[in-house]
Amino acid sequence: MALRNIVLENDGILRKKAREVSEINDKICMILDDMLETMIEKNGVGIAAPQVGILKRMFIVKVEDQLIELINPEIIEIEGIQLEEEGCLSIPGFYGTVERPAYIKIRGLNRNGEEVTYEGTDILAIVLNHEYDHLDGILFTDKASNVREISQDDR
Ligand SMILES: [Zn+2]
Repeated sequence: MALRNIVLENDGILRKKAREVSEINDKICMILDDMLETMIEKNGVGIAAPQVGILKRMFIVKVEDQLIELINPEIIEIEGIQLEEEGCLSIPGFYGTVERPAYIKIRGLNRNGEEVTYEGTDILAIVLNHEYDHLDGILFTDKASNVREISQDDR
């Protein structure tokens, strides 16, 4: 495993729509391993492939002790709304309040190519929705109100 550089907000790659993963091979698994290591190093709760410069539809979420890896995810149900403050590894130091679904059901493939479905509420719903947005080139600042800088970390 290796740490990868996190792509920052000003890089146009974050604005592109990521492509479906056509084949889950060793390279894809290696990228996922690197994404996880990078996310943990940065104390993140989620990371999407475009954030390490890979325009593929996959992300990792780790909320509490639940680790979710999803390839070619599809949101199949959302319900309700919640308003919470969030940030993003690609926009270090900035936070804003975003309207997210209160409940989300999402389906995709795991690294073994098996179909998996996850349901999330609270922070898990937020992070799943946030990471999914990255695959469509959407950043939390597009949806957030009162975006502001809270610390000078990494700047
Ligand atoms: Zn993000």
